[in-house]
Amino acid sequence: MLNCRDVGTNATEFLSGALPLKTNLLVVWHVLRCGNCRLAVIQIITMLMALRKRKAKPVSEAQVQAWLKAMEEHKHHHHPH
Ligand SMILES: [Zn+2]
Repeated sequence: MLNCRDVGTNATEFLSGALPLKTNLLVVWHVLRCGNCRLAVIQIITMLMALRKRKAKPVSEAQVQAWLKAMEEHKHHHHPH
């Protein structure tokens, strides 16, 4: 499993789709269960979306929405961390 540090290190690549599928899934798995990393990823998404208004698009809109939706849905389950 990845720890928070690994997720932080890979976050930008993860969001730009540059990670291998298997690593990508590990990051998603961690982010869905870890509030700290979820916040970090949301911040990066926000930053990327802001950047994208001006130039290249590292992540597709649909992808970002799918992640945000997954995170939202997860929140409602109230799992203890
Ligand atoms: Zn974490």
